[in-house]
Amino acid sequence: MEKIKEKKVFFLDLDGTIYLDGILFDNIKELINLLKNKKQLFFLSNNSSISTTDYYNKLRDVGLEINKENIIISTHPTIQYLRDNNFKRIYLLGTKSLQKEFIEKGFELTDKKPQIVVLAFDKELTYEKLEKAAYFLQDGLPYIATHPDKVCPTKKGYIPDTGSMIALFYESTGKNPIIFGKPNKEMLLYKLRELNLTPKDAVLIGDRLYTDIRMGNEAGVTTICVLTGETSREMIQQSEFKPDIILNKATDLIKYFK
Ligand SMILES: [Mg+2]
Repeated sequence: MEKIKEKKVFFLDLDGTIYLDGILFDNIKELINLLKNKKQLFFLSNNSSISTTDYYNKLRDVGLEINKENIIISTHPTIQYLRDNNFKRIYLLGTKSLQKEFIEKGFELTDKKPQIVVLAFDKELTYEKLEKAAYFLQDGLPYIATHPDKVCPTKKGYIPDTGSMIALFYESTGKNPIIFGKPNKEMLLYKLRELNLTPKDAVLIGDRLYTDIRMGNEAGVTTICVLTGETSREMIQQSEFKPDIILNKATDLIKYFK
């Protein structure tokens, strides 16, 4: 734990790590303020159903005092990939909120001769969009997806997420995309490159073994698994993805940073 204090950048998962159902865990604001003052701090989410601005507003609404620059969504490494590979004309399966962000970042969204198909968590998906994307995939266009989550939890139950759409396109076209977001280590590594830091400088705190901890392990950062979400100590024992540190809750870190 003493080594944790020397780390320069902290990546925090959201659901199950700092809040549940949009309600912040006790004292989490204190932890975030301490980290914010002493370290670089980023929040990670795979949810590409809304733009970074709308996600930022949502986090402000639950009471997090953070900057937009502190949020990393699966959309960001996806956009980085598009830029690095010079893709400009995109067929995007994404909500209006997300479309706005792509346009602001300089991409042309089109169904006329696009260069690539990009699949996000499209809660405004229509059959027409599915049809067009299926034709483009059969034509052999490059194909990427923001994240692999099959379902998204809601109060009433699970709803189909991007991973389910990936399965649908695989069944209908035989094509599989390059996938960003957790557990793809690029989600951390692109940000570390941007900051000129190395994995040794970083800590990842999350509650899911097969996304958060797996990504942290593969990126080579120090991992902390918290037990406030979906993981128990028994699950850690049985998992192939082991965290470096286990904490009952993220706020157990407060005493080390005071
Ligand atoms: Mg989580």
